[in-house]
Amino acid sequence: SDIGSQKERVVTEEEWLQKWEMGNIGFHKEQGHPLLQKYLDVLLNGKSGLRIFFPLCGKAVEMKWLADMGHNVVGVEVSEQAVKEFFSEHSLPYCEEPVPEIPGAKMFQSTSGNISLYCCSIYDLSSSIVGKFDGVWDRGALVAVNPRDRQRYASLMINLVEKNSSYLLVTVLYDPNKHKGPPFYVPESEIKSLFG
Ligand code: SAH
Repeated sequence: SDIGSQKERVVTEEEWLQKWEMGNIGFHKEQGHPLLQKYLDVLLNGKSGLRIFFPLCGKAVEMKWLADMGHNVVGVEVSEQAVKEFFSEHSLPYCEEPVPEIPGAKMFQSTSGNISLYCCSIYDLSSSIVGKFDGVWDRGALVAVNPRDRQRYASLMINLVEKNSSYLLVTVLYDPNKHKGPPFYVPESEIKSLFG
């Protein structure tokens, strides 16, 4: 499939940090995503106390929502500002600690222990650091990854999930010649080749 000029486009971590500083975060939604509500049963499979991963989490309100339902939420986000805003906007007390395996990274954890947000690049994570997950909510994540990094991202995600896990992926459909992204257009055929 043709993703046009998007193939070469790169958004640096520095640019993401700037977006947060400038409040240029149109991707953030105050309301929980309707597709998570719609497909919640698929994600949870009738099970409780799941470990759910939020790649490129921003300050997604769905993290609070799933934690309140009794699940354990782990996210990763490069912007420390985003992580701190998440906890303060939900009035959640948290503590902050270094991650021994990742130089410069910090882990922010709600005092109640059920929300852990890693402040680092997702590419620094591995299952030996964060364990494996029963569910993934991928909204604004694969579509925010630079097109050249998609393979690496997908391989990592496959590595981070348990055998019987559910992975909810939200993508956007539009003409990639009319918008440079992010969010990037990820053709269905590419999703199939990335995730099998
Ligand atoms: N999933 C969130 C945020 C989507 S925007 C939501 O639904 O609202 C993408 C987010 O990924 C931004 O907050 C950006 O700062 C973060 N990000 C970009 N590259 C990253 C990387 N390599 N590792 C971790 N976070 C990253």
